[in-house]
Amino acid sequence: MDCPVCKNAMITLELEDVEIDYCTDCGGIWLDAGELELLLGEAEKAKQLLSSFTIDSQSTEEIRKCPICDKKMQKVIVGFSKPTLLIDKCRRGDGLWFDKGELHDIFDRAKLDKDNKIQKLLTNMFEHKET
Ligand SMILES: [Zn+2]
Ligand SMILES: [Zn+2]
Repeated sequence: MDCPVCKNAMITLELEDVEIDYCTDCGGIWLDAGELELLLGEAEKAKQLLSSFTIDSQSTEEIRKCPICDKKMQKVIVGFSKPTLLIDKCRRGDGLWFDKGELHDIFDRAKLDKDNKIQKLLTNMFEHKET
């Protein structure tokens, strides 16, 4: 699968039995449909988070193409907190694209338990620093 941003081949990483596609050039991550829920692990919080998605039709961010169906993806706003977190979603529902750091952001916003394994893995992976 090619990165929708830099078009280079992505590598597959395994996070707690969930395979994610990761671009080593730009740090972006592709999740197939359903994988975000698996990673979040907490069904109720995952549902809340996903139901907070709203389509941003006015975004000026560059449109990206889905790495699976090659159609233009939609910009989706996650949650209600500021600054706005904008991710890319395939219109057919193939999956979600996260620019560097955005997946980590989503985990912060989902307010998961502090010892959530995936959040820790992501923190280590990207050496995310609190600002
Ligand atoms: Zn890339
Ligand atoms: Zn697609």
